[in-house]
Amino acid sequence: MSVLNMPAEGGCRCGRIRLKVSAKPLLTMACHCTGCQTMSSSAYSLSVAIPAEGFDITQGEPVIGGLHGPSHHYFCAYCMTWMFTRTEGMEFFVNLRPTMLDDPRWFTPFIETWTGEKLPFAETGAVHSFQGLPVMADYEGLIKEYMAKTA
Ligand SMILES: [Zn+2]
Ligand SMILES: [Zn+2]
Repeated sequence: MSVLNMPAEGGCRCGRIRLKVSAKPLLTMACHCTGCQTMSSSAYSLSVAIPAEGFDITQGEPVIGGLHGPSHHYFCAYCMTWMFTRTEGMEFFVNLRPTMLDDPRWFTPFIETWTGEKLPFAETGAVHSFQGLPVMADYEGLIKEYMAKTA
């Protein structure tokens, strides 16, 4: 699998918000849930889980959008790009949309979630597929497997 060269920089569509990744990704994902279909205006969302200490906003102030629930979806207030997600109780990582990065071409999804809700045509090439979400205990093994493959 291709790996992210670090530090990696990126930003929203208009460039008012810029960010930097300086820690090795934990996992890459595609999510087919209907919420992600709506928020991404597409068939599925893409995420790369970055350890929180290796993720920095270097310019601008992202704002919370989406459902304003326990998953905090961060957007650029000007161009409204959905940039990344932080989840309450799981502050150790940030789920960044990899297409925010100036070079996202290394990205492939290692797992895909909510295939039970996927659009019939949508294929991602993910190594592991889940009808819903993996259980918490499964994530540890998935992260280990992904990190070993990208070491
Ligand atoms: Zn913007
Ligand atoms: Zn989703």
